[in-house]
Amino acid sequence: YAKEIGRNTIQIYSSSVHSNERGRYLLSELRQAASREQFTLRYQPKVTATTSEVNKVEALIRWNHPSLGSISPGEFIPLAEKNGLIVSITEWVMRTAIHQMKVWEESGIPIDRVSINVSAIHFQYGNVYKMVHDLVGEYNMAPSKVELEITETSVMKNIDEAVNTLDHLRKLGIRIALDDFGTGLSSLNYLQRLPIDTLKIDKSFVDDLVHDQKQQSIVSTIISLAQHLGMEVTVEGVEHADQADLLHSYSCDYIQGYYYFKPLLPEEVEKACLLHRKI
Ligand code: C2E
Ligand code: CA
Ligand code: CA
Ligand code: CA
Repeated sequence: YAKEIGRNTIQIYSSSVHSNERGRYLLSELRQAASREQFTLRYQPKVTATTSEVNKVEALIRWNHPSLGSISPGEFIPLAEKNGLIVSITEWVMRTAIHQMKVWEESGIPIDRVSINVSAIHFQYGNVYKMVHDLVGEYNMAPSKVELEITETSVMKNIDEAVNTLDHLRKLGIRIALDDFGTGLSSLNYLQRLPIDTLKIDKSFVDDLVHDQKQQSIVSTIISLAQHLGMEVTVEGVEHADQADLLHSYSCDYIQGYYYFKPLLPEEVEKACLLHRKI
């Protein structure tokens, strides 16, 4: 099969042997990617629906390999999860994102929240609390400016333990978002038990929104339900104006997607933030 691995690169696999070979090579390269400074972060804005302000971003990792080019996190994050590398990658992401927030704070750029993705496997087996606690301490960062995006799978295995960890994080002041909402085995029962601040409605609910009235009922109902439970709602994967219009009419809190912004470089975030600032 053919697989797109970078902007200009198509890799053809004749058999799974080749893909295993690529996997082994990627893994050995991935172990050294951080020390070779091959990772960078992009920041995708979450646009405030009511005011169009840009002051919240999600950090998304990028791996640029000297010979393979850019490798998507959809490919290397699962590899890192299987091989225990995810903990050090998350630490690199958290440190870099929190450091960037400090730089923005010190130069008067009013970005007031960064969201960081935390893999289910790391959330379940690693010490996420200690990692984020130590980093906000080291950078003297207000914990309320840091949000962790976790998925339903992070909490399904052992919900009592997950609730415990989430409570602990929120006592510290860290915010929690439930990512990819609607794609897992979530039941509404979980929604009322989980101590979370933000619900992120997955792109798959947005794709057919404009032409599918049932989807419209589902999305508008989830938004109002989550808000009644005291959560903020972000909708992700918004690519078209008519989708954004509908979501505005449902009073969702934040909209994220290519229609507004792709994942940006820090200097592009600064421009967007200052340009869309309310004074
Ligand atoms: P995610 O957390 O659900 O992130 C959303 C993905 O959708 C990102 O892809 C983003 O660039 C993309 N996206 C945003 N708006 C649109 C849109 O309007 N249309 C389309 N088609 N796509 C959009 P990306 O950056 O390739 O990341 C893919 C996944 O890899 C993420 O999904 C997340 O699960 C994982 N990931 C990315 N960065 C990190 C990280 O730092 N740590 C961890 N653990 N996982 C990460
Ligand atoms: Ca995310
Ligand atoms: Ca997501
Ligand atoms: Ca996703």
